[in-house]
Amino acid sequence: MSEMSVGFYGHVRQYRNIQSEIDANIKRVLESGEYVQGPMNKQFEKELAAFHGMKHGIGVGNGTDAIWLALMALGIGPGDEVITHANTFFATAEAIWIAGATTVLVDCDPKTKCIDPTKIEAAITPKTKAIIPVHLYGQCADMPAIKKIADQHKLFVIEDNAQGFDAAGDTFKIGELSDATTTSFIIQKNLGTFGDSGAIVTNNDQINKVTRLLRAHGSPARNVHSFGYNSRLDDLHAGILSAKMKHIHEWNNNRIQWADRYTAGLQGAKSFTLPYQVPGYRHVWHLYVIEVTNPQKRDAFVDWLVKNGVDAKTHYSIAIHQQAGYPWGKGARVVGSVANAEHNAATCISLPMYAELTAAEVDYVARKCREWDMTNA
Ligand SMILES: *Cc1c(COP(=O)(O)O)cnc(C)c1O
Repeated sequence: MSEMSVGFYGHVRQYRNIQSEIDANIKRVLESGEYVQGPMNKQFEKELAAFHGMKHGIGVGNGTDAIWLALMALGIGPGDEVITHANTFFATAEAIWIAGATTVLVDCDPKTKCIDPTKIEAAITPKTKAIIPVHLYGQCADMPAIKKIADQHKLFVIEDNAQGFDAAGDTFKIGELSDATTTSFIIQKNLGTFGDSGAIVTNNDQINKVTRLLRAHGSPARNVHSFGYNSRLDDLHAGILSAKMKHIHEWNNNRIQWADRYTAGLQGAKSFTLPYQVPGYRHVWHLYVIEVTNPQKRDAFVDWLVKNGVDAKTHYSIAIHQQAGYPWGKGARVVGSVANAEHNAATCISLPMYAELTAAEVDYVARKCREWDMTNA
């Protein structure tokens, strides 16, 4: 038995902390008699748009749907190419494929792990229609640089913000420098419901109109349909999210505090490096990812942590272009070296990170990492 056990998620702790608020919203929905695209969904969509300072919030079934629905609303599909980076979560590339477009992967920045803007131009062809930067691990991609390239080449930008809810850049806000921003509310994200759902936020009236049609069987009015799909954020989840969103900024502040505590406690380690933070950005630490210096020892380190009661994981140990299961073909490809993405896949370890951690737990995790470091440096 280890001295302490630190789980990877704090979902139940979070529920207990605001149980009365969540339960009250669930009760309201149950008693309203309307469960799909009802009043709670509409309320949450307004709150979500206001949170981002944007015109429209569109609730959908999950974060993957949010991306491909936004792509379709922009008219992107078969024959079109979309650029993203090789070390994002699989769903970013999957959404491009679902939309029928072609995935083009470039490398990440070696420090931030977000898309490297200097690699984008080499991947642009006459077929390129959009760039999807991901605010990976909770830190914004370099949006001003991406927006500049997009404007020069007349490309759309969709921010995949599944991991960076309430993050910000130094001079820019999320949503400000793109056509649409998508997010996921699956439980493990910073703002998560007890199940699946997602959303799109945008100032673009056309994207708002089309995604609303697409998510509900292409139906503008009863019995009238065009091509669409079924991908809705139901009212129970909207109620849970509405209650939780009131706390997200404070919860993210806790994450920032724990990240600082990890960083202080892990200073001087020789067998791994610490995550990089862009000065002036609000990094909301969806994940706190260290990188081992010897990839051969990564899995043993994770196993050792788990054996010592620290539920560590890897995000993501197989990059997109290394996935045999990705439907390659139709021109899907990697442009240039993706050595940084591959290095990231081979060396990453995510330590437990959530608002409800305690100082004693963070210190225990840091102590165990240092113990490993002393014998494996
Ligand atoms: C979680 C995630 C998604 C997909 O969200 P789902 O709600 O699981 O469909 C997309 N992109 C990134 C970067 C994610 O982390």
